[in-house]
Amino acid sequence: MSKGMQPKDFGELYDMFQANVSRYDCGRFCGPINGDSPVCCSTQHAVPVVEKPEYALLKSRTDLWHRFKPYDATTRKIVNELGSSCCAIECKGARFCERDNRTLACRAFPFYPYITREGNFIGLGTYWIYEDRCWLISNMQVVERDFLKEFVAAYEFLFEKDPAEFETMKQHSATHRRTFTRLNRPIALIAREGGFLKVLPGGKGIVPLKREDLPRIGIYKSERAYARAVKAAGGTMPAQSVMAP
Ligand code: SF4
Ligand code: SF4
Repeated sequence: MSKGMQPKDFGELYDMFQANVSRYDCGRFCGPINGDSPVCCSTQHAVPVVEKPEYALLKSRTDLWHRFKPYDATTRKIVNELGSSCCAIECKGARFCERDNRTLACRAFPFYPYITREGNFIGLGTYWIYEDRCWLISNMQVVERDFLKEFVAAYEFLFEKDPAEFETMKQHSATHRRTFTRLNRPIALIAREGGFLKVLPGGKGIVPLKREDLPRIGIYKSERAYARAVKAAGGTMPAQSVMAP
């Protein structure tokens, strides 16, 4: 039986997964609607959950992380529902980020490994609940090939060491399919070999997706919609256009 991931395995995994997701500093795009802080680095939006051996490794390397203290009913529910092998943690904030001591979740965000009903890891899906805030989910074309390669290698390593993680991601992919079928929306994926795929709602198959047809969502649909959202949030417009080519 697998012993699961040990702290040293997380060290190995960190070594193999270091690539930047893109050449953009994408926190400059979501920050203006979130008090100038990247959405995914703020526990107001996303509470990092790690396996306890991953936290043990991080504690041996840095004082960047501490246990997360729930601050309301929603965050109490998140913490109460965690399995005994996991814990919720919080870093000191984006200004203090240590690149080498980011969690697997930090490195992979906003992507997760998408697993088909048949159990094939075919690409990268997104944590769709962040699609209204995360610029990257509306700009999947900017993801670098090195990131894609390292993401796939890191998750294959993780699944090999800890098959329970594979099952968790398979369940998560099934939830994604159910949710999007209810909404009658296709799921956009980055294919693991490059290019893009579209999972049709209602189990109607998986087809190629052209780069120009990748979804742009909510405030990231247009420069105007974005400018309105930044104004409403009292933020400052970034120097660079929010519409990445
Ligand atoms: S990954 Fe998404 S939420 Fe995180 S900094 Fe980039 S755009 Fe913002
Ligand atoms: S460690 Fe860095 S990337 Fe991860 S949540 Fe903290 S600031 Fe964000």
